[in-house]
Amino acid sequence: MKLVTRAALGWPPSAADHASPSRGLAIHYDGSDQGLARKPHSACLAYWRKTRAFHMGPSRGWSDLGYSWGACPHGYILEGRGLGRYQAAQGTTAGNRDWYSVTLMSGPNEDPTPEQIDAVRQLRAWLMSKGLGAAVRGHRDFFGTSCPGDRLYRLVKTGTFSRSPKEADDDVSAKDVWTYEIPVPFGTKENPEWQAKSLLLNSNERIRNLERQVGELTALVRELVERKS
Ligand SMILES: [Zn+2]
Ligand SMILES: [Zn+2]
Repeated sequence: MKLVTRAALGWPPSAADHASPSRGLAIHYDGSDQGLARKPHSACLAYWRKTRAFHMGPSRGWSDLGYSWGACPHGYILEGRGLGRYQAAQGTTAGNRDWYSVTLMSGPNEDPTPEQIDAVRQLRAWLMSKGLGAAVRGHRDFFGTSCPGDRLYRLVKTGTFSRSPKEADDDVSAKDVWTYEIPVPFGTKENPEWQAKSLLLNSNERIRNLERQVGELTALVRELVERKS
């Protein structure tokens, strides 16, 4: 997971009250299109700072950014309140206490990028490894609101965010597999592990030898049988 921490943003630990969200993850959006997918990642960081300032300013007056996490179009997870805090995003006491929140930082007419969807899946898998429940909801499941927009809500309903993230080692090459060293019972002290490629070539050579020997034996047996008759 490509995590941008509060420390990296220069923020102190969240002043929000402690909580232990255990039910699942709630998906949010921004009320207006942000166009972050077309902008450099620095625009996401600026958006995240601006959102925190807005949430802590006179119009909201919250102790911190309302969300615990943000997922940007470039595949980064931006830390908001972070682990173990009440949310200010879900609009109900139980929702804010029992569910983590993540916003996709996009508006009603924007689709998430594949990297962004995978970032949400990675975040969810990471939170589940810390004991979070598997459920995924949209903000509107808690509270009468347009959030997270029809596009994201459809993805919530079809289970898009509930799937497993892509394997982190997707970039293993075919060559990496063939040159992978496997411990072999017939290995020597100097060479206890053989590359998969060597094992395959060695097995093939042995099979060819066996074929040749069986051929020779068959010919010999035939010759003996013919001599007898
Ligand atoms: Zn929301
Ligand atoms: Zn970004």
